[in-house]
Amino acid sequence: MPPGLGAGHRPVTGREPVSASTLADLALEASTCVRCRLAEGRTTVVFGVGDPHSDLLFVGEGPGREEDLTGEPFVGRSGRLLDALVAEELGMTRSEFYIANVVKCRPPSNRDPLPDEVTTCRPYLDAQVAAIAPRVTVTLGNFATQCLLGTNEGVTKLRGRSYPFGDGVLIPTFHPAYALRGGGAVTAQIRADLVRVKVALASAP
Ligand code: URA
Repeated sequence: MPPGLGAGHRPVTGREPVSASTLADLALEASTCVRCRLAEGRTTVVFGVGDPHSDLLFVGEGPGREEDLTGEPFVGRSGRLLDALVAEELGMTRSEFYIANVVKCRPPSNRDPLPDEVTTCRPYLDAQVAAIAPRVTVTLGNFATQCLLGTNEGVTKLRGRSYPFGDGVLIPTFHPAYALRGGGAVTAQIRADLVRVKVALASAP
């Protein structure tokens, strides 16, 4: 057994496809996932929440402590900031968009997810994107942005424009946790990115 994988966990190599296609079935399949070592330390699989028919999808990095305990993404301080900014700039509440993470289980001590954990979890995110088919996907922070755009470039350089993604566009912005540390200037840049999101949503067919 590869190092770090405890008994009872079934390591997968590479992107093993998920079998479910609707979001509800996918969530059920993910809820008992033991594909990687993150299953060992998690309390709850944090699959994602919101309107499965929304034009708008937010993608973060991975669950933190509060998310692991509640099973819902972005419920801590950074989530509250995100909710406030989205309400102010887009006039939308959580029930009107969908929000998920690159990895669905909390990495120990909130470390960054490891490349093999991202690869193993990726079919869930890909299936979520396919099921929701958002017009606008907003990546929150370096990690999600680099993952979904397949680049090593940082979000500071990548933000400020939109990129083709699926049947719509991807708009990168800073992670709200960075705004909590970085203060007003970062928050203002997130607001500007959300205005870009608003324009993209308004022009969606
Ligand atoms: N940070 C993330 O990237 N995702 C969460 O769900 C919470 C904090």
